Amino acid sequence: MALSLQEIISWCREEGKEFWEYMLYDDMRERGVLREESLSYMETIFDTMLHTVKTYRQERLSTSGLVGAEGGKMEAYLKKGSTLCGSFMGNAMSTALKMAESNACMRRIVAAPTAGSCGVLPAVLIPYYEMKQTDKREIIKALYVAGGIGEVIAQRASISGAQGGCQAEIGSASAMAAGALVYLEGGSGEQICHGAALALKGLLGLVCDPVAGLVEIPCVKRNVLGAVNAISCADMAMAGIKSKIPPDEVIDAMQEIGTKMDSAFRETALGGLATTATGQEIAQKLMKE
Ligand code: SF4
Repeated sequence: MALSLQEIISWCREEGKEFWEYMLYDDMRERGVLREESLSYMETIFDTMLHTVKTYRQERLSTSGLVGAEGGKMEAYLKKGSTLCGSFMGNAMSTALKMAESNACMRRIVAAPTAGSCGVLPAVLIPYYEMKQTDKREIIKALYVAGGIGEVIAQRASISGAQGGCQAEIGSASAMAAGALVYLEGGSGEQICHGAALALKGLLGLVCDPVAGLVEIPCVKRNVLGAVNAISCADMAMAGIKSKIPPDEVIDAMQEIGTKMDSAFRETALGGLATTATGQEIAQKLMKE
C-alpha cells in the first residue's frame, strides 16, 4: 500500500513497470488473487459503470424528486451540436449527470472513490472508451491508475466529505480521473501524478454542504465539475505543465484544509448551500412529506 505518489513512481523506476501495475500487484497481494482474477474484477467494475449509464432513463427521479432527468437533457442538447465545450467534454458532462443521478435514485453505481462522487470517473472513461474506440484493457489499466491515486489520497488525507469536505470526494475523484486520462493519452508516471495534482489543487477548499443532508444538491452537478476539471488538467499535464507544488504536498494541503474546515462544511448540512433560504425551505418541505 503506497503512502505517497512518489513511492509509486520510484517503484516503477526500480522495477521497470508502469504506474497501473503498482495497483495490480497491490490488489493481487491484498486479496490473494491471480493477475487474471484481478483484471477480470476490474473489468466487472467498468462493466457495471457502463450498464448503469446504458440503462439510464430520463423519467427516473430520486425519491425526494430533487434530481433526475438532467443527464438526458444534457445529452439532448449535445445532440444538437451547439455545446461550447465540444463532444468529448459534453459527453463527459452528460455521463457524470447520469451516474450521479443514478446514485440518488438508488441504482447500482461504483463508489469511485465514494458514492457521492461516483459520476466523475465513468464520465471520463466511458466517452473515452466509446468515442475513441479504445481497447477495453486500456480502460481497465486506467482504472488501476485511478485506484493508485485514490489509495494514496485515502492514506495521506481522506476521501470522505464528512472528514475533509467535498474536496475529499469530488476533488479526489477528479484527481483520479485526471490521472486515468493522462495514462490513456500516453503520459508518463510523473505526468499522471501532475495531472492528478493539478486537478486536486483546483478543488482545494471545496465544502460539503448537501441540501437536506441528501447526496443530491449540489452533489450531482459537482460530478460534472470534477469531470470537466479532470479533462482540462489531463490536457495540461500532457502539454508538459506541472504542479509547482509536488503532488504529495498537494494531498497534504488537502488534509490540512479538511482538518481545519469548520464542521458546518463537512456533510452536516449546517452551512453553505444547505442553509440558504431555499436550501432550508427544501429541507423543511421534505421533512413534512
Ligand atoms: S457535497 Fe458532500 S455529499 Fe455531496 S458530493 Fe460533495 S462531499 Fe459528497
